[in-house]
Amino acid sequence: MNRMKKRKFERKDNGKGAKKPSQPFYQSPHFVESFVDVPDRFEKNELYIVERNRKRKWLMLMCPNDCGRRLELNLMDSKMPCWKVVVRQKKVTVYPSIVAERCGAHFWIERSEIIWSHVNGDTLF
Ligand SMILES: [Zn+2]
Repeated sequence: MNRMKKRKFERKDNGKGAKKPSQPFYQSPHFVESFVDVPDRFEKNELYIVERNRKRKWLMLMCPNDCGRRLELNLMDSKMPCWKVVVRQKKVTVYPSIVAERCGAHFWIERSEIIWSHVNGDTLF
């Protein structure tokens, strides 16, 4: 697959030296029924999935590139572009990769970890 693992998102060290390598960046996702149930702003390690009648509609996250914008990814295959989300053991995988149009950040979410990408020649990192 044509992608490079540039770096994992940096976590803050708690100063105790006891890292938890098995702890993913994202918490287990919040499921809500409607777009309007998603706050305008939330923590960067939170994910919101809008799901109604067992149909997933939106994935919402805060851009991990510090631009502070909320990203809204369509999960409905009736609209384009469309992403797929797999939630397994509370860990979230999203594909294809995510491009934040405003700031140009390009990354993958795999098992609730952020993997930065340089595909398309992004030079932000
Ligand atoms: Zn951004």
